[in-house]
Amino acid sequence: MAFHVMLIPSMDCPSNCSYCWGVDKESELMDIEIIEETVKWLKDFQNEPVTFTFHGGEPLLAGYEFYKKALELLSQKLSNLNPAFAIQTNLWLMTPEIAKLFAEYNIPIGSSLDGPLEINDSQRGSGYFEKTMKGYKIAKEKGLNVSFISTFTSSSIAQKEAIFNFFLENNLDLKLHPALPSLRSEDPEEWAISPEEYGELLIYLLDQYLEHMGQIEIKNIDHLCKGVFVRRGVVCTYADCVGDTFAIGPDGNIYPCYRFVGMEEYVMGNVRDHPTMEDLSKSEALKSLRDWEKLVDDECADCSYIKFCRGGCPYNALTMDKESQKMEIKSVDHQCEAYKMIFKEITDRANKEFLSSPNLMMPGMQSSSENKRKSSIMDIMMKRS
Ligand code: SF4
Ligand code: SF4
Repeated sequence: MAFHVMLIPSMDCPSNCSYCWGVDKESELMDIEIIEETVKWLKDFQNEPVTFTFHGGEPLLAGYEFYKKALELLSQKLSNLNPAFAIQTNLWLMTPEIAKLFAEYNIPIGSSLDGPLEINDSQRGSGYFEKTMKGYKIAKEKGLNVSFISTFTSSSIAQKEAIFNFFLENNLDLKLHPALPSLRSEDPEEWAISPEEYGELLIYLLDQYLEHMGQIEIKNIDHLCKGVFVRRGVVCTYADCVGDTFAIGPDGNIYPCYRFVGMEEYVMGNVRDHPTMEDLSKSEALKSLRDWEKLVDDECADCSYIKFCRGGCPYNALTMDKESQKMEIKSVDHQCEAYKMIFKEITDRANKEFLSSPNLMMPGMQSSSENKRKSSIMDIMMKRS
């Protein structure tokens, strides 16, 4: 895993999506001083190239001046780490000025859209679709690369065909995200989809992908197939993220990942103290995540997919301990069954393809009649990302 630092300028968000429980309407905005301290902290922290992802809440709440200064500081003062940048935003606050700045730093944008207007706005709120598409247009006019994450919920999963067709017909690449049980709501399962539903959804999208190869990119399927092929996870969910990924909250607190921001028990330190890796390792947060890695080694020891799954995402394994009322990680990722379903499908199909056509291992050796064949799992595995 490459070294990854997520910067969270605010935990607030102007949108009000029904299934989102991570927003803090009272959140402070990150001061540029936190970026200055981050620079001092990272200068001697490690030597690997770093990717900074601005995340939220909604990161564009920080505004143009913040990004102008932050990008300059991070890219100039940490040039020894060859920094790359990315942002995850709903695009509502995108302006031509910000888009031009992001284009100068070659910043890819991840945004969120759950499908066509009616489906999207039914779960993300009225007016969301229009505001995001307006920002999308501004970003595209400045040549920015934008891809969308689509959250599938207990409500929208029944319309998976309409959602897939929307992305296909509009030439939009797709990354999907299953709605998680809320850790804070009174009805945690209201929007969540079960592991079985998620597994079936991934298999459905694998079939669609093979049928529409070259017309759309489905990132999750790319990552899953590539991981099986190279025998290691190629995205954080299926790799060991602990110690390679950090998130910095608006107040400079350091967490294991953006998903933990705001959870007191997962604060590992603060950028103002310029902690070393040794200092962070002494925090209860990092210790509990290291313990989780050992739990994965034990609980997943007999699983055929452990090398390219690694127990999934530790955040997805969080549960509320009823007695202590604390979030604890005592199992593997709750989506384990979904991962087993899709990994089995990919490995079974790849083995079948390989046995029936050994030439598939060497692209370019197929005869012209074979060139007309249906796309294969091996085609996805060999795709350049
Ligand atoms: S906690 Fe989950 S989302 Fe965060 S870096 Fe780790 S695997 Fe990725
Ligand atoms: S599929 Fe489940 S058992 Fe297998 S490695 Fe992943 S989390 Fe562990």
